[in-house]
Amino acid sequence: MGARMLFRAVIMGPPGSGKGTISNRIIKHFALKHLSSGDLLRLNIQGETEIGGVAKSYIDQGQLVPDDVITQLILQEIGGMRQNYWLLDGFPRTVPQAEALDKAHKIDSVIDLNVPFQTIRERLTARWIHPGSGRVYNTEFNPPKVLGIDDVTGEPLSQREDDKPETVIKRLKAYEALTKPVLEYYQNKGVLKTFSGTETNQIWPHVHAFLCTKLPDVSQEETAGLR
Ligand code: AMP
Repeated sequence: MGARMLFRAVIMGPPGSGKGTISNRIIKHFALKHLSSGDLLRLNIQGETEIGGVAKSYIDQGQLVPDDVITQLILQEIGGMRQNYWLLDGFPRTVPQAEALDKAHKIDSVIDLNVPFQTIRERLTARWIHPGSGRVYNTEFNPPKVLGIDDVTGEPLSQREDDKPETVIKRLKAYEALTKPVLEYYQNKGVLKTFSGTETNQIWPHVHAFLCTKLPDVSQEETAGLR
């Protein structure tokens, strides 16, 4: 891809929407640089940078990092890159972040993963644990022989606080309240592209086809050793 090639994208989707899987597939197929705000923050915390120190106190309390801190971090990261083709993941999460980003870089496409609330709830609450051994079950992929009971000991299974329906619903509601205005912001700019479905494998071909209208799929070249 030429150095002058431009493609600046954002991917959005609630926890459990398959955003991680879709992002990985995008990166495999298209030569986009993946920039995840959560990963960047974790790197800064590990590296004990000044921003890392500030971010940690918010993240530990389950709060969002202030807009100016995260915006500065992301813009710096983008500014330091040679490529002008990237996929932002986890940023922007608020309208002020979207506005600040807009001032620096025009966004070409926003990929919005729209998975029904009920599907996400089922996915996120599917994990059950046997506290005594740490054995993990998933009611979708590897269910216990008897629902709620450990196969080996016959003891009851439990759910982590994070995986309990009331916690999951709270997280999803918080995501929705916060990001709905961001989605509307991009809708008004005419760059929002929404992909709806209940299965990642069903959504992916549409995301792939959409991106093929913008970028070459490089995965074939990669397997042929051309990159
Ligand atoms: P994530 O891995 O995307 O869930 O991010 C982990 C944590 O980092 C979040 O819970 C927030 O506290 C913080 N964070 C990540 N991205 C942002 C953002 N765009 N704005 C504010 N805080 C963020």
